[in-house]
Amino acid sequence: MKVTCFSTKEFERKSLVKANNGNHDLLMVPDTLSLSTASIAQRCEGIMIFTGDDASAPVIEKLHSIGVRYIALRSAGYDNVNLQKAHELAIKVANVPAYSPYAIAEHSILLMLALNRKIISTSARIHLKNFSLNGLVGFDMNGKTAGIIGTGKIGSVAVKILHGLGCRILAYDINQNKELTTSYGVKYTSLDELLKQSDIISIYTPLTQATKRLINKESIDKMKNGVMLINTSRGGIVDTSAVIEALKNGKIASAGLDVYENEKGIFFFDRSNEVLQDDLLSRLMAFNNVIITPHQAFLTNEALENIADTSFQNLTTWSLGNKSKNEL
Ligand code: NAD
Repeated sequence: MKVTCFSTKEFERKSLVKANNGNHDLLMVPDTLSLSTASIAQRCEGIMIFTGDDASAPVIEKLHSIGVRYIALRSAGYDNVNLQKAHELAIKVANVPAYSPYAIAEHSILLMLALNRKIISTSARIHLKNFSLNGLVGFDMNGKTAGIIGTGKIGSVAVKILHGLGCRILAYDINQNKELTTSYGVKYTSLDELLKQSDIISIYTPLTQATKRLINKESIDKMKNGVMLINTSRGGIVDTSAVIEALKNGKIASAGLDVYENEKGIFFFDRSNEVLQDDLLSRLMAFNNVIITPHQAFLTNEALENIADTSFQNLTTWSLGNKSKNEL
């Protein structure tokens, strides 16, 4: 199959070429999929896209008009794809449902520990030969209450790590995982109870209509004073303005954000020579108790290999006229 791979970055080219193994005719482009770039896929039956690509209804219509019949996502999340339009036009879409839950879960715990023990400030100070400990006091993770929103593949791994650190774990999910209760002492609660009791709140749900801006002014008001908030899931789950207000007045003591609601067009790109036009992000970046990583949680060798392998398996299955098990 002839395939355009949108948003291909230097770090993933090797794994994509290896996983393709010469099976498909690839056109790897750095361009982000949008209405204005969709025509790059002219004469391609398939495209591959990532989280920053726009596969909204008008883009899917355009892709269909130029002959695209298959969309292989190189991600687990698919909130950037209008599935209804794709189904209407008989375009098949498949994701990579699990590539390494460890990569994302581990990154979320890294954000917690780095914020808690103020590692970014320490590192900056050491370079200035400031070896003082003032202002660097953290807390023991042991005995703290961690509130896990979403206990699917990634949330479950986070639970296991936090259990190892001695945390008491509360969880909120529309589907409960009994194994987490029996083996790791997880107590499922209502969202309100989780917000009220947790010292650390970490999000692992997909972005859906139900989770959009789940963390907003109202839900933040219900949190403990001085809570830590971690989001490695999707930016749209958190109302950034409300988080900024809460960081300013101390309700939220620290935040670790791998995703940001307006990240499209900013994250994944080198903007170091430009004036940042996004005022919300600029304000977030100005807090010394906020760590922002640019949608980096997935970025391990293992995850990249698994992403590439599954994406090409999806395309190959389709090219053989079969149904992919990852079809959405
Ligand atoms: P998953 O489907 O295994 O788990 C999601 C969990 O959320 C499920 O248990 C589900 O029941 C729960 N859930 C769904 N809707 C809910 C709601 N309204 N309220 C409460 N719980 C709800 O998914 P996963 O593999 O664990 O991934 C979770 C999300 O992480 C993905 O959808 C994606 O958005 C994000 N992600 C981020 C990165 C990154 O690099 N930052 C990488 C991969 C995935």
